[in-house]
Amino acid sequence: MKVFIDGKFYSQRDAKVSVFDHGLLYGDGIFEGIRAYNGRVFKLDEHIERLFCSAKALLLKVPMSRRALNRAVVETCRVNHVRDGYIRLVITRGVGTLGLNPNRCKKPSVIIIAGKIQLYPQSFYAKGMDIITVPTVRNLHSAVNPAIKSLNYLNNILAKIEANNAGCEEAVMLNSEGYVAECTGDNLFIMKAGQLLTPPLYAGALYGITRSTVMDLAREIGVPALETTLTRYDLFNADECFLTGTGAEVVPVVRIDGRVIGSGRPGRVTRQLVSAYHALTKVSGEPIYV
Ligand code: PMP
Repeated sequence: MKVFIDGKFYSQRDAKVSVFDHGLLYGDGIFEGIRAYNGRVFKLDEHIERLFCSAKALLLKVPMSRRALNRAVVETCRVNHVRDGYIRLVITRGVGTLGLNPNRCKKPSVIIIAGKIQLYPQSFYAKGMDIITVPTVRNLHSAVNPAIKSLNYLNNILAKIEANNAGCEEAVMLNSEGYVAECTGDNLFIMKAGQLLTPPLYAGALYGITRSTVMDLAREIGVPALETTLTRYDLFNADECFLTGTGAEVVPVVRIDGRVIGSGRPGRVTRQLVSAYHALTKVSGEPIYV
């Protein structure tokens, strides 16, 4: 595997960052998880746009243009012969001093890794997942805004540990008011009375690219897709439930906190959206090999 770091490719063994990089010392940096399907990078411009929004929020100057980053992601896929894979694009604050002052970091670093991802076992997609709500609440906007896709994922990791301890692979995170925010690495949807519902971003959700793709696909098949605040009660009484994410894609949920959702099997609209999403990934995206 060849890893892109600041304009050069390194072998996996030599792909290293400094111990003085504030990405490592403080989680000061941002990232994107991107997928390649069928020789194309899916939703690349959307990921790059979100990366620049995260950078803006952190007052971090991305040292490459949008266009140059786009080219670098495609090139990293090409040199690694990726047709179907997972791309991790990371910008760190760069090398600084041991104090946390970001102004002491002279140059942010750009890292691009093109590899593979298998987030969940295949059985989850066929039979649905069992998830739980966990005690760790989602970060407040006024503290670390969940819209920033930063390298500081401890809030999510704490929730993931709680889910793992309970024998689950994913956790529903509530916000400090008790409304559903999202999962540790996925957005959450329910179907109720013919409508597709998902928490608004202000509830503490990441602006998920799969989330907005799935909302568009739902509208195309005549299912209204709306943002609304949701409680655990709403989840328990949903007709269907599923999660979305670049890594997870669209994964059905059939049990939450021991409550069976709908029929206990992946719902009809969920299955339609899984197929529609897969169909879209096959034909859309930035070509890697031209
Ligand atoms: N929420 C969180 C916390 C995430 O890390 C992610 C990405 N893995 C998502 C939601 C889903 O976002 P996307 O569809 O853009 O991958």
